[in-house]
Amino acid sequence: MDETVRYTYRLRPGATARAALLAEWGRCRWLWNEAVHQYKTGRKPTFGKLSKLLTEARARSSWLRDGSQVAQQQTLRTYALALQHSFKVKGRGRPRPKRRKDTLPSLEYTVRGFSIRDRRLRLPGGVAIPVVWSRELSSAPTSVRVYQDTIGHWYASFVVRRETPPAPDVEGAIGVDWGVTTTATTTDATYDLPYLGHRKRCAAELARAQRRMARRRRAKNVTPSNGYLRAKRQAAKVAKKAARQNTHDARVWAKKIIDNHATIAVEDFQPTFLTRSRMARKAADAAIGAAKRELIDRGMRAGRKVVLVPPAYTTMTCSQCGTRAKHRLGLGVRVFRCDTCGYTACRDRNAARTILATAERGRAGADDVRHAITSFRDGALVRSEPEVPRLSTVGKR
Ligand SMILES: [Zn+2]
Repeated sequence: MDETVRYTYRLRPGATARAALLAEWGRCRWLWNEAVHQYKTGRKPTFGKLSKLLTEARARSSWLRDGSQVAQQQTLRTYALALQHSFKVKGRGRPRPKRRKDTLPSLEYTVRGFSIRDRRLRLPGGVAIPVVWSRELSSAPTSVRVYQDTIGHWYASFVVRRETPPAPDVEGAIGVDWGVTTTATTTDATYDLPYLGHRKRCAAELARAQRRMARRRRAKNVTPSNGYLRAKRQAAKVAKKAARQNTHDARVWAKKIIDNHATIAVEDFQPTFLTRSRMARKAADAAIGAAKRELIDRGMRAGRKVVLVPPAYTTMTCSQCGTRAKHRLGLGVRVFRCDTCGYTACRDRNAARTILATAERGRAGADDVRHAITSFRDGALVRSEPEVPRLSTVGKR
């Protein structure tokens, strides 16, 4: 199977390259904000109109001309797409201005704008950046996104084609229920994903960094001290590490599930319901989010049948006889007991089985199976692309 994916590498730009990247970002950010302004003042900024404006603006301003035309055009293309999606995709807002203090640099280049020579990434304006080639590119890249993360590290994310061996032919189905103490409880205990609490484990370290930040914080409108910025970077580093570990665990787990099952019934958990709650809960939500994303992503790419089951009543329905209990189980009750048939099981295990049963019965017409995703358009899926259509199919974010 041939698929389009992103391969991401760490960049190690020197001081000159870093300054060039930031200057490029400054120009692109200005253009984006111009486009937002165009929309707000009632003009309809389509990509065609915007590129015409760009040509005029570049003719007038040497500041813009100093930057890469490709990067600038790509910024406007991204803007036009974001605007288009804000009309079509439910829950997506209009593109907002990118403020200097709270947006991170992100630049896009098509093949016209970059090349790889001597194992360095070459960008317009004679910028050459060493790349940490942690693995070989699977094909010649068709575009690259150069971006900086919260800790200040730079990355290059290349879009490449990749030949993937087809997923093993397997039968069997599995149901997945999300939870706080065990991130994923499945119908088969060997596939459970325990909550490893990376964020919680890092919590003390994070709290220390945040206290340091609080001590060193200066009044508004005053340049923050170096000590404050150092503490801020430290806090971001700890959070990043935890998030990375979550993603890694989720990937390993999702691969195991996908490799061994043809049908995957997943509780359609919406973390937004819970995020108002405590820190620990938030962390568990993040772990669930990562696992769910990986599972759906991998399942679809492998061509598995992925069914999202709404979470309503799953914990209070008997997975053996299908009877719905009259009362909701309290959060403290860990064992489910059916009054009709006497079936007893661990609360989450029963929920997972109910989810699987619901998906298999498929009760078409009923709201029980809200979305059954069986296929996706080939090539439409590029990992970590924000505009992947499937995200809106999956639900609100
Ligand atoms: Zn029963």
